[in-house]
Amino acid sequence: MQPVEQNLIGIAKLAHQAPPLETKRTAEYRQLGSYSLLNRAPPHTPFFEWTINPYRGCEIGCKYCYARYTHEFMELRDPMAFEQLIFAKQWNPAAFAKELRRVRRGDRIAIGTATDPYQPAERRYGLTRSLLEVFAARHGYRLGITTKSDLVLRDLDLLQSVARTNQLTVHVTITAIDAGLARKIEPRAPRPDLRLGAVRKLAEAGIETGVFCCPVLPLINDSDAGISALAQAAKEAGARFLAGNTLFLRESAARVFLPFLDAEFPHLAGRYRARFAKGAFLHGAYPDLIARRFERARERFGFVREPSTRETAPWQAEDQLELFPEVDGAPGVKMSPA
Ligand code: SF4
Repeated sequence: MQPVEQNLIGIAKLAHQAPPLETKRTAEYRQLGSYSLLNRAPPHTPFFEWTINPYRGCEIGCKYCYARYTHEFMELRDPMAFEQLIFAKQWNPAAFAKELRRVRRGDRIAIGTATDPYQPAERRYGLTRSLLEVFAARHGYRLGITTKSDLVLRDLDLLQSVARTNQLTVHVTITAIDAGLARKIEPRAPRPDLRLGAVRKLAEAGIETGVFCCPVLPLINDSDAGISALAQAAKEAGARFLAGNTLFLRESAARVFLPFLDAEFPHLAGRYRARFAKGAFLHGAYPDLIARRFERARERFGFVREPSTRETAPWQAEDQLELFPEVDGAPGVKMSPA
């Protein structure tokens, strides 16, 4: 444990004081002291108003992971720290219930926007399961879970309970159905066939489930044929919706992803460097082309673009009577599927 630096404040101080829980070969787990679990989405986020990330960091360690910069808020500047130093947030059901009073009727809550809620740490600490137990006892919430892990199936019964009284969708992220490619770019994620199996079981259990292909990596997983094959596999597994977004590379993500390209896709490294030297996001013809490919795949295989907005059970209005004062949540993070 490194010494606590004198001038750290807020979440950085908590992170540097965090007691170790367990050390593995690839990752160390620590407990992050009391901090809000429910955070407001940044302004203008289109698909949800609130986020819940039960962990900080993610051991799955996707090479392109956009969320690495969230460790920088804790003064952990090495981008590899994001996948090596995992913080399990302290769980306090009473405090969480109080936080939920901030949610208004119709607000959408996204679980897993800057971490995977079913990453390996979840087997040990069960924070995502604890959250779901709270929602299973409530009604009227609009929830979305995003994951790359078939560990989500451990909670199938609980998810069904949540979905009985709330609007719940599960987004399973699959970037490629080629297992070799997936292993390269998402080294500790479950194989694509296992993720498709999770889609199948979730859909069979009546959970509204979709597939996210995020990110689309230029000249790596972006071919029309590849997107079409993924769409077909997702449809056969029972997914209802399909979406894909192009890669964006912030500096902390680029510090991992570009050396990865040097090693694994050296013929592409120079082109990526040139494109992303202009900014973290791709603009213009390329994202338009990818949007059209997904639109075609949706039409061909009969997907909808977004989850449905079916009526939920009546809103749990009694919890809204006492307004919880605004608290300063975790620093804003760019939201995108895990
Ligand atoms: S992209 Fe998602 S699953 Fe991959 S390391 Fe980042 S948070 Fe984890």
